[in-house]
Amino acid sequence: MEYQGKELFRRVGIATPRGHFSRDAADVAAFVAENPGSWVLKSQVLMGGRGKAGGIKFADTPQQASELASELLGKVLKNVQNPDGERVSALLVEEKVAIASEAYVSITIDRSTKKPAVLVTAQGGMDVEEVAAHDPEAISTFWIDPAIGFSPFIARRLAFAAKLPLGFHKHFPAIVGGLYKLFMEYGANLVEINPLVLTEDGRVIASDAKVELDDNGLYKHPHLAEWRNESPADEDQEAAVAIGLGMSNYAKLEGDIGVIANGAGLGMGTMDAIRNAGGSAANFLDIGGGAQAELVKKSYQLVVSDPKVRALFINIFGGITRGDQVARGIVQALAGDDVRKVPLVVRLTGTNEKEGRAILAEAGMNPVETMDEGARIAVDLARA
Ligand code: GDP
Ligand code: MN
Repeated sequence: MEYQGKELFRRVGIATPRGHFSRDAADVAAFVAENPGSWVLKSQVLMGGRGKAGGIKFADTPQQASELASELLGKVLKNVQNPDGERVSALLVEEKVAIASEAYVSITIDRSTKKPAVLVTAQGGMDVEEVAAHDPEAISTFWIDPAIGFSPFIARRLAFAAKLPLGFHKHFPAIVGGLYKLFMEYGANLVEINPLVLTEDGRVIASDAKVELDDNGLYKHPHLAEWRNESPADEDQEAAVAIGLGMSNYAKLEGDIGVIANGAGLGMGTMDAIRNAGGSAANFLDIGGGAQAELVKKSYQLVVSDPKVRALFINIFGGITRGDQVARGIVQALAGDDVRKVPLVVRLTGTNEKEGRAILAEAGMNPVETMDEGARIAVDLARA
């Protein structure tokens, strides 16, 4: 449902409206009383088209919120696609934002090419099938090669091709990148933001969320299955923030190989390479750009603190991140006696690669040349 989709969005850094989940009209009224302003009451059901079906209401006072929440809770929403309808048993109360413009973005698997397809149109807030039927030119599509993964230029191109208002452009690569990360990480069938909203004060927010997971995806993510019932405070997010990273930079998975990379795209590629080599990642930490030795050291400590990790693959493609800083961080991490040691393989390319390699060599380590080689070695080390 929407509130769960938005929870996942926040994990990957996609902004969502401030909100409150509730199953009770008195609680909704109390929330609005404590937080004066304009609020949207959104029925939490699986079906789409809730606006037209009367499942979305606006409230400015606790009194209104109470009446509308009582009206919605228990109501059966129906439309042409869902003639039997769906009973509303929960609401998401969200800050009502002033909309300057609405866009649409989704990622799904294109059945003919078997590649993830990113669809974007400036005609957000409408049924995308309707747009496709009446104005197909208005939808821009990019097929991502999974071996290469996402890169920000894909989103930049789409923003221009779909003629999104300029206010969207700056934020768009991070939003599409986050969506792609979710799509891959959870093996989703569909991730969709409709509408993606540009607010009058210049924010870009996912006003609606749809994440369709298949059962396999859910199976691969037991922690997600738990979370579906109740959403606990996320320890992974807290751990990432505690070492100075963004909350979506660290994610626990279910395999036995720890992965540290710079950038979500390289991380996805690294995990794919590990999968191709017959292994699977225990977790993934994105150290971001320009990491200093101290952050590399803390990242190492965080990743190996996960007892599932039997081997670690550090894969750095140096741009603003400098190879010597990464190498120094690794050496410092290994120098501490309080830190858990696991078999390690490092790939270090790009800026200050030579200096980095020299530092590692002095400490008796020998970095590999390619990602696939590193992945194969990591899989072997984890099995040893
Ligand atoms: P859906 O109909 O199930 O897709 O539900 P949405 O979450 O997409 O909401 C439907 C419509 O309600 C949107 O297209 C907007 O027009 C309107 N809406 C939802 N949230 C807001 C808001 O914060 N501000 C304003 N002005 N309109 C909103
Ligand atoms: Mn919608």
